Amino acid sequence: MQTFTSVGCTVCGCVCDDLTVTVDRGRVTGARGACKLAEPWFLAQNTSSSPAVLLDGQPAEPEAAFARAAEILRTARYPLIYGLSRSTTEGQRAAVALADRLGATIDTTASTGHAPSIVALQQVGESTCTLGEGKNRADLVVFWGSDPVVTHPRHMERYSVDPIGRWLPGGRADRFVVVVDEEETETAKRADLFVQVPSARNWDALWTLRMLVRPTPPGPLASCEGEPPTGSPCDPLLPGKGEEEPNPLTPFAPSPALSELAGRITAARCGMFFFGAGLTRGKLAHRTVEALLQLVSELNDRGRFYARRMRRFGDVAGADSVLAWQTGYPFGVNLSRGYPRYNPGEFTGPNVLARGEPDACLLVGSETVADFPPAALEHLRKIPVIALDSSGAEPPVPTAVRFTTAVYGIHRPGTAYRMDEVPIPLRVLLPTDYPSDADVLNELLKRVG
Ligand code: SF4
Repeated sequence: MQTFTSVGCTVCGCVCDDLTVTVDRGRVTGARGACKLAEPWFLAQNTSSSPAVLLDGQPAEPEAAFARAAEILRTARYPLIYGLSRSTTEGQRAAVALADRLGATIDTTASTGHAPSIVALQQVGESTCTLGEGKNRADLVVFWGSDPVVTHPRHMERYSVDPIGRWLPGGRADRFVVVVDEEETETAKRADLFVQVPSARNWDALWTLRMLVRPTPPGPLASCEGEPPTGSPCDPLLPGKGEEEPNPLTPFAPSPALSELAGRITAARCGMFFFGAGLTRGKLAHRTVEALLQLVSELNDRGRFYARRMRRFGDVAGADSVLAWQTGYPFGVNLSRGYPRYNPGEFTGPNVLARGEPDACLLVGSETVADFPPAALEHLRKIPVIALDSSGAEPPVPTAVRFTTAVYGIHRPGTAYRMDEVPIPLRVLLPTDYPSDADVLNELLKRVG
């Protein structure tokens, strides 16, 4: 039996790197420090199980699979490369090189997650910091549209709520924790304050907060009869209480909880806003995230305030980073003209598939494909799909060629980026005969000519 310490976990964007993993006869037998998401994942890892290669669903020789995959990619007029968040820097770099050679469109799983946040920060900038700085300084922690107890189980313990920080020697006791969400989540149950805001009213609530925390207090308040108590401008054409005429400039009644949040913000020395999927849904989600980023930037007039995206998958932050340093853009990049073009919506994977544009697709990890809109999934079923997936993963669409690849951080070393873009080295725990994503992609690069 072997014991490995300081093991990194890539199941979620926290990329915790303090696990102790025991291995016995080609299997992971224990994972100390792993959360309820990570433990079953580690225990399911072994040296091998799935066939290395499937051609049209049948086991085949690797040579035949590479030849078929290269042929599909070489003859495609509009190839799409999608995924990358279960890979590492090495695999992501190889995927960009292949996309460049093919003149393909390349996109990451950000387009099913934080794409609106990326668009927003490109518009208004971002006041941000590492998780370490937040842990050491933030005496106010706000989770907006995010439920880390469920999605990032060790986030609160390691980075945001419980740990002792350099300027927070009392740990949890020195922090005030707020959850803003549409319903009381598991995280809200552990918070000091819960502010209920329907997801469609997040923008309104954020703008109301911006008004409430300004040094000049708002004017007389009007009520929002019959509206959810968000403190949002329900309808600017409705007259406020005691007014005869509609007044579009009338400020609106914030809920008591939202007012308390404003008070906590003005009293805080340092605040950290973690925002998640609850803020990135809907067609105008980028405007909502812009409002949060602007609020946080403005708050730096009175103290230190930071915003941080709660990234979902292990290395989605790395996928954005690698694409950005290789092409200049973080996701949704088209290379068909020999230079990178970026346009979310026009070149993002789910959108191009829903419009039926690609005639071949290479999935580097298929874990988010099930989240695609039905039209995109339908088109994927009509075109040849090449998938690189770990042993046991099942793509939700039929594949022409499927390569089983090694898992970074289990079978292969690599670098994954935590949600705050801090690179974390990954260790090898088990031997395997499977190639890595980078090995397969580099071999395809050689073969497509
Ligand atoms: S919080 Fe995330 S990275 Fe940390 S152990 Fe759990 S699943 Fe792994």
